[in-house]
Amino acid sequence: MKVSKRIADLPPYLFVQISRKIAEKKARGERVISFAIGDPDIPTPEHVIQRLCREARVPANHRYPETYGLPEFRQAIAAWYRRRFGVVLDPETEVLPLIGSKEGVGHIAFCYIDPGDVALVPDPAYPVYSISTMFAGGQPYFMPLTAENHFLPDLDRIPAGVAGRAKLIWINYPNNPTGAVAGLDFFERVVAFARRHDLVVCHDAPYTEVAFDGYRPVSFLQVPGAMDVGLEFHSLSKSYNMTGWRVGMAAGNAQIRDALMRFKSNLDSGIPQAIQYAAIEALEGDQGCIGEHNAVYQRRRDRIIEVLREIGLGVMPPMASLYIWARIPPGYTSADYATLLLDGAGVVVTPGTGYGQCGEGYIRVSLTVADSDIDEGLARLRDWARRTGGIGPRTT
Ligand SMILES: *Cc1c(COP(=O)(O)O)cnc(C)c1O
Repeated sequence: MKVSKRIADLPPYLFVQISRKIAEKKARGERVISFAIGDPDIPTPEHVIQRLCREARVPANHRYPETYGLPEFRQAIAAWYRRRFGVVLDPETEVLPLIGSKEGVGHIAFCYIDPGDVALVPDPAYPVYSISTMFAGGQPYFMPLTAENHFLPDLDRIPAGVAGRAKLIWINYPNNPTGAVAGLDFFERVVAFARRHDLVVCHDAPYTEVAFDGYRPVSFLQVPGAMDVGLEFHSLSKSYNMTGWRVGMAAGNAQIRDALMRFKSNLDSGIPQAIQYAAIEALEGDQGCIGEHNAVYQRRRDRIIEVLREIGLGVMPPMASLYIWARIPPGYTSADYATLLLDGAGVVVTPGTGYGQCGEGYIRVSLTVADSDIDEGLARLRDWARRTGGIGPRTT
């Protein structure tokens, strides 16, 4: 049996070596502490779970949902966008519930990319943007995100010929994996660029509610003209610790939303209704949980950064997202360095190259680790640095 070219062409799993080492350590009964996964460890808020349990008993919720979601859920999404960002959306035509935002992020390529078309994709980035482009027969053109440019793509450096062939541009702020944030001025430049080249803008924004030091991330849709060119993907996953329930949304331009809806309606049958009611509860219920979670993440961020700096990494504290993007000392590859931490301290981090070539020179450290594991992980890193005399630039 021969698999399709799109499956055969999937890039190889980048962390083979590290995964093998983790498995070996576990087989020997050693405990590894993982800072590699971006999945909130704090439970879903109690009032949301209670609503889910109640709705699970309602027979109407046992039947097929509609692809485009319950009207109450679409209205709740529109009302949330208005309260949170001052963005006014028509719940009938400008909002689309998703089975987690990854579902929409993965499917939108099929609505705009024909074989040979280009999608502009950041590097480093969440891998789904480039892989879905390839699944649709298109080619990703990678826009480097560098520290010098505050991890924003430099739109002026995209060759005119590439921009001319492009159908779609991906952006993601607050950013995974760099933790960078973008302001309205950047989004304005993206709108102008999209107008000039007739592009669809896809803004992946699951981290707007995970922010620190009083910072409030903005929505792409706040910028004049954004509704003409773009769709924003959002999610309950990171805001309300609901990764396991699979519920998110797209909001923005009605035509783009309609294309995605038509594609989806031929593939899935929507989100289980009890989960849609739980999502309404999350969006409309007490929002105190957001500040509580962010206080926990901020405390973790500061504790982890202190130790990363001690062991010789260069770190800027992120203002939002669940990640610390740390510069490793010169002379190592990201993968070498991650292996060093695993061998020396039994601590797992993600090599920056897992998110693209421009991630070389960095590791990603996640804040979604239980506090007791953070205690142990940081103690191990300190102890390791003490034993080895700390690690500076590699000299051989
Ligand atoms: C977590 C994450 C998602 C997916 O979120 P779901 O709504 O759970 O599917 C999408 N994009 C980025 C950048 C993420 O980090």
